[in-house]
Amino acid sequence: MDRIKSAETVRDHLNSVSPSFCLAKWLQVTVHLQNGHTHSCHHPKTHKIPIEELKRDPSALHNTIYKKKQRQTMKDGVRPEECGYCWNIEDIGSEQISDRHLKSAEDWALPHFQEIATAPKELNITPTYMEVSFSNVCNFKCAYCAPHISSKWMEEINKFGPYPTHNKFNSLDHVKENDQMPYHIDEANPYVEAFWEWWPKLYTQLKVFRITGGEPLLTDNTFKVLDYINQNPRPDMELALNSNLGVPFKLIEKTADYMESILNNNKVKQFMLFTSVDTIGEQAEYIRYGLKYEQYIANLEYLLTRLPKLRVIVMCAFNALSVPRFHLFLKQILDFKVKYFEMHNSAQSPLLLDIPYLRYPEFLSVQVLSDGLIEKIRNSYNMMEFFSEKKMGQQKGFEDIEIVKMHRLTEWACAPKDPRWVKHIRQDFVSYFTEYDKRRGTDFLETFPEMSQFWNLCHE
Ligand code: SF4
Repeated sequence: MDRIKSAETVRDHLNSVSPSFCLAKWLQVTVHLQNGHTHSCHHPKTHKIPIEELKRDPSALHNTIYKKKQRQTMKDGVRPEECGYCWNIEDIGSEQISDRHLKSAEDWALPHFQEIATAPKELNITPTYMEVSFSNVCNFKCAYCAPHISSKWMEEINKFGPYPTHNKFNSLDHVKENDQMPYHIDEANPYVEAFWEWWPKLYTQLKVFRITGGEPLLTDNTFKVLDYINQNPRPDMELALNSNLGVPFKLIEKTADYMESILNNNKVKQFMLFTSVDTIGEQAEYIRYGLKYEQYIANLEYLLTRLPKLRVIVMCAFNALSVPRFHLFLKQILDFKVKYFEMHNSAQSPLLLDIPYLRYPEFLSVQVLSDGLIEKIRNSYNMMEFFSEKKMGQQKGFEDIEIVKMHRLTEWACAPKDPRWVKHIRQDFVSYFTEYDKRRGTDFLETFPEMSQFWNLCHE
């Protein structure tokens, strides 16, 4: 059964427990060890892991008292507010597929349905899908990122202060208020220590383990994990690594050596590389500041050529600036899909496009856009439909799972909005990028000539 059909089936199954029940709240976790924050899944806002809970049990990295309350809320049929990412989609119409359905239908989740549906509320759960960030060290400062996630952003905010938007975007006051200030990479960090204490037990239960950042290739802990896996194979576990592929080539080569050893000796079930880019060329470089697009593509092609068993997921945090040239980006992705499928003749596509929609900051989300630009989103969706696997043949077009994410974000972009709120975020859009250009020596209108009318509209 394909992923969409199983998600539709699982939707009814979940709703039989409650219309707000989602297995990801129990089984999937992202832990930000650099500042001791956790969330389940990765969509809700993070919350701090109380150090006293951690001292009692390192599994507090996932099982905080706060999270247990959210789980119970779900079972009681009340939507946790923090899961707005899914409610936004489900409120468009009951036929929509949200991440609640998609995630709960995954192999790391669905087999545990009964156990989770009947689990007592105090039970400490060992997650089956864990994503971990060891530090905020990063060589990029993407437009939608934050100082506690990127050390480059931290440097900029320390030097120039927050951005002049209504909410003072990326103010360190907010970071401090939310207790998100990161430990320095060389500082003793109780959260990293708790992770390594929990790791031998946790490792045996995981179905998916994913390393994120910061930039994971700039952190020794990433290679410590890869060494551990080399010595303790888990042929039934999927391993995933995020990277911006913008690090020096010797680190790309070193990572490829590890990947080759792990893949060729079947030490994991699958090795997946998640790499982010939100559109093509100079517009992508503008959004993901630090990115050199040509170099990025060269590194991506190096890995795809050298590692036939590697599966690459290109993550596009679809935002307002993705829109103007997204059709060109889709064309490049399609060319790579065909090229590497033919080169390796593999059973599954070596390259998949994931298109989550960006919600924060709101002024960068597609909801800020004018009708003409929203129409362009619909055109990109139509292009994906036109070049779908169903029409082009297997492995030669976009898969249903790629298209459905584009469809739902198109619907979300078109959803009715409060005009006063739109005006508010458009003011922020102009304030933000005016300051961005000043600090970074970039030029919004030169880079995005297709958005000049929209820029003027925001000014009005
Ligand atoms: S945001 Fe959605 S997928 Fe994530 S835990 Fe909440 S309901 Fe589940």
